Amino acid sequence: MSVGLPIAGQETCEDPLDLMEEIDRLKKETDTTILAHYYVDGEIQDVADFVGDSLKLARDATTVTTSRILFSGVHFMAETAKMLNPEKTVLIPDLNAGCSLAESCRPEDLKMFQDDLRANGHNFETVAYINTSAAVKSLVDWIVTSGNAREIIDRVPADKEILFVPDQHLGRYLSEVTGRKMILWPGSCMVHEIFSVQDLLRAKRNNPGSEVVAHPECPHSILEHADFIGGTEAIRKHVMAVAEPHTYLVATEANMIHPLEKAAPQHRFVPVPGVMTSTGETCACNRCPHMALNTLQAVRNCLRDGKPEIEWQPFFDKARDVVAKSLLK
Ligand code: SF4
Repeated sequence: MSVGLPIAGQETCEDPLDLMEEIDRLKKETDTTILAHYYVDGEIQDVADFVGDSLKLARDATTVTTSRILFSGVHFMAETAKMLNPEKTVLIPDLNAGCSLAESCRPEDLKMFQDDLRANGHNFETVAYINTSAAVKSLVDWIVTSGNAREIIDRVPADKEILFVPDQHLGRYLSEVTGRKMILWPGSCMVHEIFSVQDLLRAKRNNPGSEVVAHPECPHSILEHADFIGGTEAIRKHVMAVAEPHTYLVATEANMIHPLEKAAPQHRFVPVPGVMTSTGETCACNRCPHMALNTLQAVRNCLRDGKPEIEWQPFFDKARDVVAKSLLK
């Protein structure tokens, strides 16, 4: 086969800089704003108009003035952008970019569980982490992100129990810091679940004097070794506030290193690896495979072709009300 010919089913290799220029041009030509999550590839973050965590991006989505939004992240995030912008076209580079955490809580299962709790005399409100489908959001009372969870939980009346879905680790952490008893849904994120304590301790030993910053989606065994626990935006602000150069071990999705290095170049950031493979190498488990579907090519193709698109669903109205009262007020 001749060098340079595309292989069936594979994308040809394109220069990232050419792609970034093409994306900039297409954004203007197609009247599109790009929103990108901290967990997508750094080059995509560099061509985006807004970059942030789920809370910041949900709020940013309400300020967009173009007729199209391209959401570089995962499906539930693009759904949130659509429900807040019903009149706009909302695109996502790959419809298969799901989320293991969101998928661990299906709406039909949640509905059945809530009905069972009510039938057994529980007086509760349901608080959902933003990493849930719009169908699940339409069944709950409150939505939280790691950035606003404490404030929202304080708004749940003290005489009510709290059913927290779907992340058991975040729920356990929030229960500890707020003192509220919670019924926890047994979901977890495949990326944060896999961090190994041994790897973290090895990284600490190899980087004396370093500080561990961890996302609250990590299991308790990791959080108990963390010096700072917070969502991605909170971690970013935490390291920016320190002027003296420092080494941080970062226990969250590895692409988070990119915005941290941009925001606080005085520091050194070391991603906490996932588990060791049988050959003794560190696997790439700290990369989210769903976020990784957001390639520069996929973003360019999506801009150029105007698809895939997030279609409006009947339950978006109810979900939007819950999102708006939880995240926009
Ligand atoms: S990192 Fe985890 S929670 Fe975030 S999108 Fe990927 S699977 Fe979902």
